Amino acid sequence: MDGSGLRVAPRRVRVVGAGLSGAVVARALADAGHQVTVQDERPHVAGNCHTARDPATGVMVHVYGPHIFHTANPEVWAYVNRFAEMVPFRHRVKAVAGGQVYSLPINLHTINQLFGRAMSPAEARAFLRARCETGEEAPRSFEDQALRLVGQTIYTTFFRGYTRKQWGVDPDQLPASILKRLPLRFDYDDAYFDHPHQALPRDGYTAMVARILDHPGIRLRLGQPFRGRLPQDADHLVYTGPLDRYFDRDLGPLGYRTLDFERFEGPGDVQGTAVVNYCDEDVPHTRITEHRHFSPWEGRVQGASPCFREYSRACGPNDIPYYPLRLLDDRRRLGQYSERAAAERDVTFVGRLGTYAYLDMDRAIERALDTARAINLAWAQEGKP
Ligand code: FAD
Ligand code: UDP
Repeated sequence: MDGSGLRVAPRRVRVVGAGLSGAVVARALADAGHQVTVQDERPHVAGNCHTARDPATGVMVHVYGPHIFHTANPEVWAYVNRFAEMVPFRHRVKAVAGGQVYSLPINLHTINQLFGRAMSPAEARAFLRARCETGEEAPRSFEDQALRLVGQTIYTTFFRGYTRKQWGVDPDQLPASILKRLPLRFDYDDAYFDHPHQALPRDGYTAMVARILDHPGIRLRLGQPFRGRLPQDADHLVYTGPLDRYFDRDLGPLGYRTLDFERFEGPGDVQGTAVVNYCDEDVPHTRITEHRHFSPWEGRVQGASPCFREYSRACGPNDIPYYPLRLLDDRRRLGQYSERAAAERDVTFVGRLGTYAYLDMDRAIERALDTARAINLAWAQEGKP
C-alpha cells in the first residue's frame, strides 16, 4: 500500500540513479511494498548533492558545488525532516565586480552602493524604472528580461559577464526564466532565497539520502553504470540519468554545462562567507565556495579552511552534466526525445537529468513523490478486474 491507500501486487523495480530523485522514488515504491534495486555509476549516493568530509581538514564539503535547501512546499519540508535534522540557514551571497564587494541578490544596499546614492525604497524604484527598457510582449531572453527589470548598468555589472562565463553563450540566447530565479529587492533584505523553509542537513545530504534508501525493500548497487533498456529481472525501470544518454544520443546530444573545481586552502577564515561570486568576465571562475561556512554549528576551524574555485565549461560525453543548457536546438531535441520516452513501455523518466529540467532539490523531491504516486496508481488500475 502507498500513501494513497492503494493495494497493488508487488513489482520488481530497477531505479537508475541514487540521487535525490532516484532515492525518493525508490523509497516511495518500497514503502508501497515493491522490491526496488537502485543502481548508480558513482561510488556514492546523493548524486550532485553529495557531501563528504574534506580528507585534509575534516570540513564537510558539498562535493559538486554549494547546495542550500529551500522550499515553500509543506509536504517536501516534512519529507526532508523525516530523514535529516535540518538546521535553519540563511544563504547570503557576496559579489565582486570592478574591484568592489556588493551584496546579492540585487537589493537596496546594492543599488545605493553601485550608484553612490542614499535612496529610499520608493526613490530607488523610480530611479531604476527611469533606466529600464520597456516592452509590451513577454521578454524574449535573459538579456531582454534584465534590461527591463534592472537596466543596463546593473545588468552589465552583475549579470552579463557572470552569465557568459556560467552558460558559455550570450545572454540574448538564454531564456528569461534563468534570471527570474533571482529576487530583486527594494529593501535591505539580503537573503538569497525567498522561501519560508531554508536549511541545511546537519550531517550532510549524503547521510540524508542514505537514510531515504535505508529500507528492507531497497537493494543498492554503487559503481555500476546502467546501459540498455528494461533489465530482464525488473518489471519497471525508473530512469534518472540523462535523457539523451538513454537513447545513445542518436538524435544528437542535449547541451549541458559541466563544472571544474580547483581546491585551495587558507588559514582560518579565507573569505568571510560561504559563497562569493565573481561577476567580471576577465576573472575566469564564476564563484568561490568556502565550505566551513555551511556548518557554523561545527565551530570555528582552527587550521586550514578548504575553498573551491568553480569554473563552468561545455559538457563533453564523458563529463558530469550539471546544468541543462536548454538553448533553442536543445528544446527541439528535447521534444523529440520526450516523445520517444513517452512511448517506452514500463519505463519512467524523472529528475533533473531524466527530464532535462532545471530542478532545485525541493522540486526534484516533489516530482519524485508525484511520479511514484502515478506509477502506483497506474499499477492499481491495471490490477482492477
Ligand atoms: P542527480 O543529482 O544528477 O542524480 C542523478 C544520478 O544518476 C547521479 O548519481 C548519476 O551518477 C546517476 N546516473 C546517471 N546516469 C547513470 C547511468 N547511466 N548509470 C548509472 N547511474 C547513472 N538545488 C537546490 O535546491 N539548492 C541549491 O543550492 C542547489 N545548488 C546546486 C548547485 C549546483 C552546482 C548544481 C549542479 C545543482 C544545484 N541544485 C541545487 C540542484 C540539485 O543538485 C538537484 O535538484 C538534484 O541534484 C537533483 O537530483 P537528481 O537525482 O534529479 O539528479
Ligand atoms: N547570475 C549572474 N550573476 C550572479 C548570480 C547569478 O549573472 O552573480 C545569473 C546567472 O545567469 C545564473 C542565474 O543568474 O545562472 C541564476 O542564478 P542562481 O544563483 O540561481 O544560479 P544557479 O543556481 O544557476 O547557479
